[in-house]
Amino acid sequence: MSPEREEMLCKPNLSLFPNATIVDGRFFWGFQCQDGWYDLLNNALSLASAWCDIADCEQVTVLEVKEKFGGLRIHYQGGDDYVKGVFNFAETMSVNICAICGTRVGNRRMHYHHPRCDAHYEE
Ligand SMILES: [Zn+2]
Repeated sequence: MSPEREEMLCKPNLSLFPNATIVDGRFFWGFQCQDGWYDLLNNALSLASAWCDIADCEQVTVLEVKEKFGGLRIHYQGGDDYVKGVFNFAETMSVNICAICGTRVGNRRMHYHHPRCDAHYEE
């Protein structure tokens, strides 16, 4: 994740990332995926964070975010069924989104190891 987007994911959702640090003046946590899934992560984290603020559920702590078997993986502690649903949905959506640029990827790419659009397929 680029430093700019890393901060844009961390800063508004610091309650989810208690071990975020400042690197070169920006919030840094350590997302192990590329920028193509930024929108997906931004929406999922915003929903989970907002839910934790109003619901009576255990505080969510995100432990690891990475690409595995061609899909987004969000490992976390806490939360409830709502948070689980939000993160499951983001993970499911990710297999049809190029992990590099965010372009929609057709079903024909699903059996490959990484979701990539035609432009980024060779990378
Ligand atoms: Zn792409």
